[in-house]
This record gives sequence, structure tokens and C-alpha cells, in this order.
Amino acid sequence: FAKQNGRNQYAFYFDELKRDSKRLLLLEAELRKAIQQKEFSIHYQPKISIEKQEIIGVEALVRWTSDKLGTVSPGEFIPYAEETGLIIPLSEVILEKVCMDIIEWRMKGISDIPVSINIAALHFQQDDFIERINTIVMQYNCSPQQLELELTERTVMKDSESIVKKLIKLKHMGFKISIDDFGTGYSSLSYLNRFPLNYLKIDSSFVKQITALKDKQAIVDCIILMAHRLHIKVVAEGVETKDQVKLLKEMDCDIIQGYYFSKPIPSTELLDFVELWEIHKQERNIL
Ligand code: C2E
Ligand code: MG
Ligand code: MG
Ligand code: MG
Repeated sequence: FAKQNGRNQYAFYFDELKRDSKRLLLLEAELRKAIQQKEFSIHYQPKISIEKQEIIGVEALVRWTSDKLGTVSPGEFIPYAEETGLIIPLSEVILEKVCMDIIEWRMKGISDIPVSINIAALHFQQDDFIERINTIVMQYNCSPQQLELELTERTVMKDSESIVKKLIKLKHMGFKISIDDFGTGYSSLSYLNRFPLNYLKIDSSFVKQITALKDKQAIVDCIILMAHRLHIKVVAEGVETKDQVKLLKEMDCDIIQGYYFSKPIPSTELLDFVELWEIHKQERNIL
């Protein structure tokens, strides 16, 4: 009986495995095709300055709906693209799309909105990373001053001389630099004062628990204090409630990003959001 049961179990896993590897094969083929045909769109999530009560920028987040797979989340296809190296051509398509949106906003007379883009480790590590992103930015007549690069701790973990050099060069060109998902990597803090950083983005896993857990609150409080001592501004990610905003304000956090203000939205909706935000400026109190 046990044997029988074991075999069924095995058959079940085998089916799962077959299904997963089928999906993976399809994912790879579809992703290659999508990159060639540039069939991605970009959504933008506003970032709000607590002190100024203004939209101080947006984060660009890639979206993909495939004919065969339907909507695939970046949480699934980005790690896969990193494993296969497809992240490099994919990131260039994303940057092109962002530049095109920036140009469109400019043509519509909207004053330049700073845009942050996520940079994958493998992409950043390419020897010609700087040249290649600069070529795209220049091709579209965009300004590096308007762009911010979000790097994770994992990407800059090594704290090597070559990473420092690369970041300093980017900074001189006008790009702003932030560390994304701060607090989730197992990295040392030694890079914080060696790198030319503009922002630390506190990972949403901390933000989620600050109102319930005193020790999470203590950690966030310390991160903000430390960042400010180093003249780095702090963005809280994944902020969903008014209580979280209140607490973050008390802790002197600079910038809020999360569903509380807006989900990531398409470019056209973003322009409506910006317009409405201006209209309601006088009566607004974000808390
Ligand atoms: P991330 O850069 O840390 O982006 C934040 C993620 O949190 C986004 O998920 C965003 O939609 C989500 N989010 C924002 N506010 C809230 C909130 O209040 N509550 C909750 N529950 N979630 C919130 P998304 O768009 O699914 O992206 C996931 C990750 O995929 C990103 O994490 C980033 O690491 C990667 N990614 C997304 N777009 C790109 C891209 O264009 N290039 C690269 N290299 N990676 C990207
Ligand atoms: Mg990010
Ligand atoms: Mg993040
Ligand atoms: Mg994240």
C-alpha cells in the first residue's frame, strides 16, 4: 500500500515538474520574442515628499502581458531574465520606453518629473554599462539629471574599488543613485559612506510591521537617523496606511511611496494624477 501511495505521490510531483518545465520553456521563448518586439509597458508609481507634500518623482516599473502566458509579474520574469542574461537587452528596452515617456511628458508641457529605474546586478556589472545607458539617454535627448538608478544592496555588496569608481562616474554625469530594498541584503554597511548615494529605500517588509512591532519601528528609526547623518534621504516603500505615514513622519522619513498614495499607473494616468495633485494642493494635508 505504501509503495502504491509513494508511486502516486511521485506521479503527482512528476506532473508538476512537467508543467513547470513546460511553462519555463514557454517563458523563455515568449520573453525573447517580447524583447525583440518590445512588447512591454511601463507603469509609474509616484513618490511623495512628506515635508513639501509634493510629488518629487516616480519609479518606473515594467509590465508584461504575453499572448500565450497572459500577465506575467516582474517578480517572475525579472529573476528569470537575470538568470538567462536576457536582462541586458530587456533593460535597454525598458530604458528606451522610459525615455520616450519623458519626451512625451515634455511635449505636453509637464515640467520634468524625476524618474527612477531599477537596475539589475548583471546589467550594472557589464563593463560597458555606463556607455550603453548613456547612449540611449542621449539618443532620446533625455537628461541624466532627471534619472535615478535604483541598485539593490546585493548589486553593490562587494564594495570594491571598481564599483565605487562606476558610481562616482554616474554621479558626475548627473544620475542620482539609490539603494533599493535596504535592510534585506546581508551586506556590510561600510559602503554607505564610500558610495555617492542620494536615497535609501527602506524595504516594504519593515514598513509593513512598523505600526505593530516596536522592534521593527526601532530599526526603521535607526536607519533614518543613520542615513540623515550621512546626508542621504530616506524613501519608505510599500506604505499602505495613514498610520504608517504618521509614524514615518514622526521618525523624520523624507519620502513616501506606496498604495496609500497610488499604485503604479500607466503614463497617461500619471499625468492625471499630477494634475489632480496640483489642483488640490491648497486644501491638502497628507496626514
Ligand atoms: P521594487 O523595485 O522594490 O519595486 C517595488 C514593488 O512593490 C513593485 O512591485 C510595486 O508595484 C510594489 N508596491 C509598491 N507599493 C506597494 C504597496 O503599498 N503595497 C504592496 N503590497 N506592494 C507595493 P512590482 O512592480 O511587481 O516589481 C517587483 C520587483 O521587480 C521590483 O521591486 C524590482 O525589483 C523588479 N522590477 C520591476 N520593474 C523592473 C524593471 O523595470 N527593471 C528591473 N531590473 N527590475 C524591475
Ligand atoms: Mg525599485
Ligand atoms: Mg524596493
Ligand atoms: Mg522590493
